[in-house]
Amino acid sequence: MSDRRVLVNLRGLLTPDPARTWAVDRIPDAALALEGNRVAWLGRAADLPAAWAGADRVDGGGAWASPGFVDPHTHLLFGGNRSGEFNRRLQGASYQAIASEGGGIRETVRATRGATVDELVDWGEARLRAFRERGVVHLECKTGYGLELEAESRLTAAYGELQRRGWSLDVTLLPAHDLAPEFNGDAEANARIVTEAWLPELVRRHPGVARFCDVFVETGVFSVDQGRRILEGGKRLGLTPRVHADELTGTGGAELAAELGAASADHLMFCSDAGMKAMAAVDVTPVLLPGTTLFLGMRDWAPARKMIDAGCRVALATDFNPGSCPCLDPLTILRLGCLQLRLTFEEAFTAMTLHAARSLRRGDLGHLHPGARAQVLLWDVEELLELVYWVGEPFRPRFLPA
Ligand SMILES: [Zn+2]
Repeated sequence: MSDRRVLVNLRGLLTPDPARTWAVDRIPDAALALEGNRVAWLGRAADLPAAWAGADRVDGGGAWASPGFVDPHTHLLFGGNRSGEFNRRLQGASYQAIASEGGGIRETVRATRGATVDELVDWGEARLRAFRERGVVHLECKTGYGLELEAESRLTAAYGELQRRGWSLDVTLLPAHDLAPEFNGDAEANARIVTEAWLPELVRRHPGVARFCDVFVETGVFSVDQGRRILEGGKRLGLTPRVHADELTGTGGAELAAELGAASADHLMFCSDAGMKAMAAVDVTPVLLPGTTLFLGMRDWAPARKMIDAGCRVALATDFNPGSCPCLDPLTILRLGCLQLRLTFEEAFTAMTLHAARSLRRGDLGHLHPGARAQVLLWDVEELLELVYWVGEPFRPRFLPA
């Protein structure tokens, strides 16, 4: 088979435009020309350049085509699940109260420390298949449920194995996801061992696996100053910072992300106006996680509209994790982006494709303009807006045949 193909018989094609921040192209009766696994041309089928007349045709079956979703914030690998604490929270116990009794993240840390690399890889593949079926073609995945060197190393090894098996993912080292139980609340000592010992050793043992590092900057966890030292340590190892910032309280995490030139600041329910301006000025992507706000029963939705007005390229992510958002579904996040963050469909879609990919420094994902990877989803709907309009409908895309 030739490596020049044209996807035809499309009801339409919808894609963000990487050259224009929030612009979305909506092309009826579209065609998409592919050279190998890259997009070479897009437009109306009637306008297909003559040079493509002899190329193989792929039948789109009358579907809408879109780029695949990119999920820029997941905690893919962990042991166990926390369904047991779910009812306690519904009865009024807070996330912090459960954590202070040794439950919450501590429960996940115990289950993760007990897992082998092979088990972690098996669980990871099952979850990646679920994401894929729902249209996610690339993910960011964090370590962070080990909270000690050997368990963090097994998590990193498992991500390396998933990459070798062909899964498209970027790995973030997050040994500073919470205070390790062994440090009895001594955040300063914990920050020092992460910076001076764990991060360098994880990079030495697993060269090339991780591209990013991250830290949970929050009242009662790591301070802005400790976060700065951890992320600067990561930068010296070649890791680009991301920051869990301003999630439960406003601590100045967004400002720290801007100061360090981080790729993203994530959560941001309590982001200050100054933090938004600082992120916009140096192009830090705010990654918003509305599934977490929903699942924690909070009412403080991230101020997405204010961020867009401040000039930020907002992204959306699942925050898939066992404690605050056990959600593998990009459509749920798109719907929350529209219904709770008050984004338009086109903005939410751009946030879960183009800007999500941009926050991972992946210019060839999240759109279908020339040069993009041919990660094309085919949706059997009359209008793509139906993906968010039919609340709870489990739409599944078809994929372009290889
Ligand atoms: Zn997270």
